Amino acid sequence: MDHKITLLVVEDDKYIMSLISMLLKDEGYKYYTAVTAKDAITLFYANNPDIIVLDLGLPDMDGTEVIKQIRERSNNPIIVVSAREEENVIISALDCGADDYITKPFYTGELLARIRVAQRKISTKPNNMETFTCDNLTVDYTKDLVFVDGNEVHLTPIEYKLLMFMIANRGKVLTHNYIINEIWGYGENADSKRLRVFMAGLRRKIEKDTAKPRFILTQVGIGYRFTQK
Ligand code: CA
Repeated sequence: MDHKITLLVVEDDKYIMSLISMLLKDEGYKYYTAVTAKDAITLFYANNPDIIVLDLGLPDMDGTEVIKQIRERSNNPIIVVSAREEENVIISALDCGADDYITKPFYTGELLARIRVAQRKISTKPNNMETFTCDNLTVDYTKDLVFVDGNEVHLTPIEYKLLMFMIANRGKVLTHNYIINEIWGYGENADSKRLRVFMAGLRRKIEKDTAKPRFILTQVGIGYRFTQK
């Protein structure tokens, strides 16, 4: 299989690196490997890989520094790999602009699934869209209207802004802080409780079953993600 995309894998653990390498090779992906942050940044500038799989615990530099340096030049998807107990590290990586995360130990199928989501993000960049449709949800950008099952849904300005922001970043895990800063701005005192209240209101209007959301998924302890499907 030829995927026509290139990955950069950054990992200092030899065992995990060989595991990921074998997996990508078997799947027909072209990839570069780096064991330090410094090499990762050099390889990134030299080869402009489409997707970056980045271990956050690197010997020479904090993984979030790598994300910041890549984000100065590129919006290519970054999937961070982290130890399970490092929730704060994951959150700061996402706040620095990482797209997704996976925790160790992971199943190889899980990593491949994340890579496929990132691939879809590359191939479906929503430019100058007039409408957005996902299942029974439709947004008409020209008229600022939202429909569920063809019926217009009345959203408050904040709910609408929230939905537009989630759709624009679909597939990506957005942390509570990231969303709050985007919707209410840095200056305001918006806490995550306030976000939860608005999210609940939005879900009641667009989801059939708010206990099992179809569109805006909860990433427990981290934030939210608009479905990529
Ligand atoms: Ca490591």
